Amino acid sequence: MSEPSATTPPATLAAALLLARPSGVDRLDAQILLSTLLQRPRAWLLSHDQDALPIEVAERFTALLQRRAQGEPLAYLLGDKEFHGLSLRVTPDVLIPRPDTETLVDWALERIPTTATTPPFEVLDLGTGSGAIALALQHRRPHAHVTAVDASAAALAVAHGNAERLGLPVQTLLGSWFTPVHGQRFDLIVSNPPYIAQGDPHLPALAFEPEQALTSGPDGLDDIRLITAQAARHLQAGGWLLLEHGWDQAEAVAQLLAAQGFTHIGTRQDLGGQARCTGGKTRPLTQR
Ligand code: GLN
Repeated sequence: MSEPSATTPPATLAAALLLARPSGVDRLDAQILLSTLLQRPRAWLLSHDQDALPIEVAERFTALLQRRAQGEPLAYLLGDKEFHGLSLRVTPDVLIPRPDTETLVDWALERIPTTATTPPFEVLDLGTGSGAIALALQHRRPHAHVTAVDASAAALAVAHGNAERLGLPVQTLLGSWFTPVHGQRFDLIVSNPPYIAQGDPHLPALAFEPEQALTSGPDGLDDIRLITAQAARHLQAGGWLLLEHGWDQAEAVAQLLAAQGFTHIGTRQDLGGQARCTGGKTRPLTQR
């Protein structure tokens, strides 16, 4: 039997999966790619690994394996990513939703009433990307009115498509930060803005994701400074602003919130135990 190679399409499932190691791709990633192409559960691959692989599937698989070997994230190759129990469509126009961001969603859920209110509880998600945060909140709090903003038309199209596909009535608005909601006030504002410093050594590992969703000035805080400066005038009395940030930015974000008169300032940790989200509550309107 000849060794499987990248030039001859693999004849069986087993031969296809054997290509993972020499390509430097995780075997699990290879299994996920192959099971997606075959539209079979991953467990099925194992019991059918001597089955013949149709040549066109073999060719598509080796092409995907090559892209994965170049570092392209699995989520972009598959076109979807699971987030907070929802299956979201993702493209290279949007940041891939991270499990760490579920911390922000869980905190926000604590602040949104579970039952209907009059008028409806107003939530704003700034820099929504794929719509992950806004859609997770709308899914869990169907009575809330959720608005999602993004400055990228391509990203907003992904968010809007996800909302339609999931049947979630999130309103999507195009524009930079608060621009499209000028003059409006919300009960809760959430955001996972770009927060990586320009030139950060981790950026090369994120090269496939949109840079505008990742970096924000020399210290990574430019957008957080802008959001914290403008949030109070877009919040109701006692409204909350909850922000995701870098592992070493909690104190800086807490100081920015304090400087804008926010109270009840607190920080939440992500799954890895890093300080990942910081937020606070606005003062009553009369004290601003
Ligand atoms: N958490 C992402 C990362 O470091 C960055 C997301 C962001 O900048 N908002 O991989």
